[in-house]
Amino acid sequence: MEIKITRAATLKEKPDSSKLVFGKAMTDHMFIVDYDEGQGWHDARIVPYGPLSIDPAAKVLHYGEEIFEGLKAYRTGDGSIQLFRPRDNIARMNNSADRLCLPQIPEELALAGITKLVEVEQDWVPREKDTSLYIRPFMIGLDAALGVHSSKHVQYIVVVCPVGAYYPEGLNPVKIFVEEKDVRAVKGGMGMAKTGGNYAASLRAGDLAEKAGYSQVLWLDGVHRKYIEEVGSMNVMFKIAGKILTPDLNGSVLDGITRRSCIQLLKDWGYEVEERRISAEELFAAAEAGTLEEAWGTGTAAVVSPIGELAMGNKKVTVSNNQIGAITQKLYDNLTAIQWGRQEDPHNWILKL
Ligand SMILES: *Cc1c(COP(=O)(O)O)cnc(C)c1O
Repeated sequence: MEIKITRAATLKEKPDSSKLVFGKAMTDHMFIVDYDEGQGWHDARIVPYGPLSIDPAAKVLHYGEEIFEGLKAYRTGDGSIQLFRPRDNIARMNNSADRLCLPQIPEELALAGITKLVEVEQDWVPREKDTSLYIRPFMIGLDAALGVHSSKHVQYIVVVCPVGAYYPEGLNPVKIFVEEKDVRAVKGGMGMAKTGGNYAASLRAGDLAEKAGYSQVLWLDGVHRKYIEEVGSMNVMFKIAGKILTPDLNGSVLDGITRRSCIQLLKDWGYEVEERRISAEELFAAAEAGTLEEAWGTGTAAVVSPIGELAMGNKKVTVSNNQIGAITQKLYDNLTAIQWGRQEDPHNWILKL
């Protein structure tokens, strides 16, 4: 499909790439393609970045008919630009679309929307160490009627913004609070879909944890309120007695691409990785027995995020002396080296622009 490009009349001043705040400095253009039932996808275009005009009765505004993705464009040492596993993001978006009755988008169209926009905005891909261009594709249901039905008119939109290192002071262990009241998602719900509704459900616990001095919550499953699912909006991994453990993809855990990549690297390095149910009780017992060696979250924004302290009720445990564990550090170093092109890409994860 041809992509029509309308350039912005004036370009914004680019922010200082040593002082980027995550998700704030949106660029000059965005990609939009429409879908209408019976007609399919049509009118792919890149237009000046700006407000969308949406009918106040549009379903996305009332019933959360929205899915999204998150990936990055990386500037390599030779100045070229590359993406990390973008087809995995598109496949996951189509899985999310299936759950929310949104239309499937052809891989090549979804990818062209991303690559064309990054090409138009290439001067926005920052060069400083650990910086990148964050890419946010999303799909919204736009039928203007308050009845609860899936939309026949939909848009797929891509916006991008330069981002800095997630942790400007470097990888620091974070404090995590085990959430025992609110749940993020339940089996049969939308936990396996990347959709705004799951985030809305997570806000209260996140706010309360922050007020209590914790940076994220550890989510438990919605049925038994016992088994660990994710940490904040990241997947979570533990090293217990030399073995790597991570919750299995049980339907309410998101299938993270960073999770997938970490599992592959760990296996390459000869670690045993167990994907299974892990109860909070098992985790705290391991911590008390001294066998909880490392804990970390995984996600595109932070790559890996070491966990230094875990609290549940009035129990508190420290993980690897509140230091970054060796495996956590090794995963961070290797994944970022592949993403920024400083290291060979043995699994064909990189797509060069
Ligand atoms: C996006 C996301 C992740 C991480 O997925 P990546 O593909 O690694 O970025 C984990 N959990 C939730 C709930 C998410 O939305």
